[in-house]
Amino acid sequence: MPDSCPICNSNKIVLFQRYPVFTLVECQDCGLLFQENLAPGAARLTELSAQTYNADWVTMRDTYLRSTFLEHAAFYMLLLNIFASPKSRLLEIGSGTGEFLYLAQAAGWNAVGLEPSAPSCAYARQKYGLDLRNSFWTPALFQQDPADQESSFDVVVFWHLLEHMTDPLQFLKEIKAVLKPGGLVLCCVPNRYSLTNDVYGKNSPLYLETDHFFHYTEKSLALLMQQASFNVLSLFCRQEPNRHASDLKAGQERFHTSNLTFQETMALMVNYQANFRGHELFCAARYTSPESRRE
Ligand SMILES: [Zn+2]
Repeated sequence: MPDSCPICNSNKIVLFQRYPVFTLVECQDCGLLFQENLAPGAARLTELSAQTYNADWVTMRDTYLRSTFLEHAAFYMLLLNIFASPKSRLLEIGSGTGEFLYLAQAAGWNAVGLEPSAPSCAYARQKYGLDLRNSFWTPALFQQDPADQESSFDVVVFWHLLEHMTDPLQFLKEIKAVLKPGGLVLCCVPNRYSLTNDVYGKNSPLYLETDHFFHYTEKSLALLMQQASFNVLSLFCRQEPNRHASDLKAGQERFHTSNLTFQETMALMVNYQANFRGHELFCAARYTSPESRRE
């Protein structure tokens, strides 16, 4: 059992659940769940990523999950328009099959993307004409002369990435090497306290993902951002409405007449659930450099 929580440093760490190939432990202070014996460095992620984000995964994204990922990308664009200066320089880390980057470029953003999965990069090129950089994240890819702010990014986004990082604090610190002072970070992660996780309990499909090393709570995500010297502007939760729209409609029509399927029940629940029980946690944060803090 680890001695302390990697985010809040609490020593109130208890066993959450042993799964076939890993164990999740829980911090009783910030609510974070994390994999025990998480090896630092990218080796494990590289191996898992190659197994997971392969040609089958791309096919899945292009077929029954296609509308979901397009809907996600459209929501990310809304966030970008709310928090960022229009059409400035943007980096997306972990572009997947490229839906968000495609929308951002089409809207006039000077946007580049990074994606370690070769099949995803090939898809993004073929489908959207995107020139994704096929690589894992390393600040050396984009790090420039610190005095040359023209070469730095105004916005760095990473959707559903932090849960896959073996050392998320180190990753956030590295982001600052490519971000202008005052620059913006937008990100999201699965919400540990989602209704879905409540319903499925310890067998939630999200907990079973071998490459989800961390399951964040509102508190742990805010703390993580603060530790990396980001100023949290907004932290909120949402559920994917479109994914459940047809289920919701079907459920409402049958609500009083027959038994609902699990999906219909969940769709109705989503409609009624309160804040911070949705599937995703979003965070907008600003990088305040030590220099500007002294001013
Ligand atoms: Zn903690």
